[in-house]
Amino acid sequence: MTSAAIRQQFLDFFKEKQHTIVASAPIVIKNDPTLLFTNAGMNQFKDYFLGNKVPVHRRVADTQKCLRVSGKHNDLEEVGVDTYHHTMFEMLGNWSFGDYFKKEAIAWSWELLTEIFKINPEQIYVTVFEGDASEGLPFDQQAYDEWAKWVAKGHILKGNKKDNFWEMGDTGPCGPCSEIHLDCRSEEERKQLSGATLVNADHPQVIEIWNNVFMQFNRGKDGSLSPLPEKHVDTGMGFERLVRVLQKKTSNYDTDVFTGTLEAISDLTGKNYTASDSRPDIAFRVLADHIRAIAFTIADGQLPSNTGAGYVIRRILRRAVRYYYSYLDYKSPLLYQLIPVIARQFEGVFPELIQQQDFVVKVIREEEEAFLRTLDKGLKKMEELISGAKAANSQQLDGAQAFELYDTFGFPIDLTRLIASENGLSVDEPGFSHEMQQQKNRSRAATALDTEDWVSVHPTSSTSFVGYDDLLVYTKVVKYRKV
Ligand code: ATP
Ligand code: MG
Ligand code: MG
Ligand code: MG
Repeated sequence: MTSAAIRQQFLDFFKEKQHTIVASAPIVIKNDPTLLFTNAGMNQFKDYFLGNKVPVHRRVADTQKCLRVSGKHNDLEEVGVDTYHHTMFEMLGNWSFGDYFKKEAIAWSWELLTEIFKINPEQIYVTVFEGDASEGLPFDQQAYDEWAKWVAKGHILKGNKKDNFWEMGDTGPCGPCSEIHLDCRSEEERKQLSGATLVNADHPQVIEIWNNVFMQFNRGKDGSLSPLPEKHVDTGMGFERLVRVLQKKTSNYDTDVFTGTLEAISDLTGKNYTASDSRPDIAFRVLADHIRAIAFTIADGQLPSNTGAGYVIRRILRRAVRYYYSYLDYKSPLLYQLIPVIARQFEGVFPELIQQQDFVVKVIREEEEAFLRTLDKGLKKMEELISGAKAANSQQLDGAQAFELYDTFGFPIDLTRLIASENGLSVDEPGFSHEMQQQKNRSRAATALDTEDWVSVHPTSSTSFVGYDDLLVYTKVVKYRKV
């Protein structure tokens, strides 16, 4: 079954259960100071849960573009190293706004997985909230009883507050959740060791696939809990993980969600992807992952820049550039060439990319060209610093050095951290932040004196690239600092 068919089956299933299918909200969030990017399906419905808006439909389902690279959910470091955390992923979800509750949500989760998708019940584990006496939170008996109608006893596990209790913030709606985990090891391995011991244990073949949140409490300012007048259901299922299970693969990257992109990278670089843990194979996975995040955020209106959400995108892009440059031996812009592949693949579900293909290609290509201008020198500098640190028997790059890499060569701190850690070193991050703050103070003082500190010019050897500015309309104007 193709990934497109799987997505459609999910939506059709909930449509039959009287859900209205809605479009994904943009991945970029412009009107919420607490969140830069959509990181869960429920974000666009937040106001319904807070009671600020009345829902138009009481039952809704969709696939939501999510990004988890900053804030509470930051999976960036896992991406490419493991095979099931992505920067951008699709979260399939169904919601009840004051309509059905645990009984239906649980029965439908089970029906969809076992009857429609035909997943073997022996591979399914579910978790229910065990309760937390210190906070006056009860064991979720109701969810337990509903699961017990379908799931064998040894496959219902109790989970703690960290994994099985959801809160929007310090106050507001909250409630227990039930996660669904799939044990995708071979039958042989499953016989030897119960999957129950591997749930939530970072085993690459025992993965969480779906979370069902039951909002039933409201936490007041004094920390007390009261029942919500209307109870809600909020679920999120990782689409790429679901596809991997249904296509019987051991890695998300071996599904048709990613193989087209991996093939395109292979054609461009002349290298083969062998699904191993080698650096080049990690690079393949990182590129196939990162290009989606970069493409869809730009298509949703967030240009790479030096601050805020734009800098998050620039960081991801530079990380990707360094991976192909160092590990696939590709020394010119590559990412932009992958856009047509993704744009075509997602044409039916997220048409915003193909509609703006030329623009997205242009933005990414210029970003790549700009970073590639300083990357080689930056990597050489990094090598010097690493040998220097090793010669001095130090385990750490100091903050001033990390800042120089940032300031002169455009290395985001997480890129410096990544390269340092590949060489067994850490980075003095407080030292880096200190240098950064000092630079901000200096530039504030300088702006007060001389507004000509920044000029727009074309690159010459006596300038150092510091990045594009946030431009409303993307042009070839690039900001350089006089050196
Ligand atoms: P995990 O424990 O695997 O990091 P999570 O508990 O952080 O997942 P939730 O916040 O419960 O995830 O999100 C709902 C679902 O979204 C998960 O069950 C999973 O299938 C999927 N998901 C979460 N994070 C990612 C990611 N980075 N890449 C791909 N899918 C993800
Ligand atoms: Mg997580
Ligand atoms: Mg989890
Ligand atoms: Mg979860």
